[in-house]
Amino acid sequence: MLQALDIAILGAGAMGSLFGGVLAEAGHRVTLVDIDDAHLDAIRREGLRLTTDTASRIVSNLRVSRPEHAGSAPELLIVFTKTMHTEAALTSAQALLGPHTAVLSLQNGLGNVERIARYAARERVMVGMTTWPADKSGSAQVSSHGSGEIRLMSADGQSYAHVQRTVDALNSAALNCAADPGVWSAIWEKVAFNAALNSLCALTQCTVGALSNVPDGEALTLKIVAEAAAVARANGIAFDEAHVVGNVRHALAHHRAHRPSMLQDALAGRKTEIEAINGAVVAAARAAGIATPCTECLLQLVRLVDARGAC
Ligand code: NAD
Repeated sequence: MLQALDIAILGAGAMGSLFGGVLAEAGHRVTLVDIDDAHLDAIRREGLRLTTDTASRIVSNLRVSRPEHAGSAPELLIVFTKTMHTEAALTSAQALLGPHTAVLSLQNGLGNVERIARYAARERVMVGMTTWPADKSGSAQVSSHGSGEIRLMSADGQSYAHVQRTVDALNSAALNCAADPGVWSAIWEKVAFNAALNSLCALTQCTVGALSNVPDGEALTLKIVAEAAAVARANGIAFDEAHVVGNVRHALAHHRAHRPSMLQDALAGRKTEIEAINGAVVAAARAAGIATPCTECLLQLVRLVDARGAC
């Protein structure tokens, strides 16, 4: 029988709305917390239009709130802002952080635990990785196609009842979740994939497939994966480089028209998540005394893209 949880999603864009929508459909009491008033108002008026391979439907039992108006602390808070907005979001949503609130980050990149642990006790923080995709096509309109999974663990590596409750809640919404003590390998492998493809696409304005139009493109992606693999291993992480190389080659061949979020952000003049991805790999590399010239060069170039509008 479903144990319905009070859940708040902080950052209810593409991923937050997808997760909030399917969790509300599964019977949980879900509040979407965001600063995008147009999105919140449209959901308040008409519900969330959620399109998946199963159906396109309206989810009408979602509560919505701005962070500064968020009421009581939920049992589970899922942080789904972009990484560079985590701290601002948590600062203005302190009311969501009660002593019994478990906080989960499935954001991309590294440093998510450290950012959240400034606001919540480390034993209440969970970290993970998801391969579910989501796109937001307009206010109150989110879609997700294909399948995905979630792997998560407590940030301090201990097993707690709230970890299993979170896994159960996510599985009640068919999100294919497992507690996994090896989740850091999955996180680093996704970071390597994103460090290679996202930064190159953001810089060149190529779709993923266009990166293989010249041999240099694939060669550069594989160098970045190899650099991230060396840094991960120096940090004691088991890293399956052949698996990541396979994923990169698959994406180049089969996701040809895909525009990674970093490219979408760059095209829209928004800041990218480069610091949490290439930036975090370079910082960890320096701490370990490892050279990562390709990742670092991409970091510096995407920083320039991010700063275009600054003068
Ligand atoms: P998004 O930009 O669609 O959503 C982020 C939301 O955070 C926006 O609605 C924004 O208004 C909100 N936000 C910004 N500042 C805020 C604040 N101060 N308070 C409250 N809300 C605030 O991003 P997304 O695509 O949903 O990605 C979220 C995270 O998940 C990122 O780390 C991303 O890398 C990761 N991720 C995305 C996908 C995907 O397919 N979209 C897949 C896996 C992981």
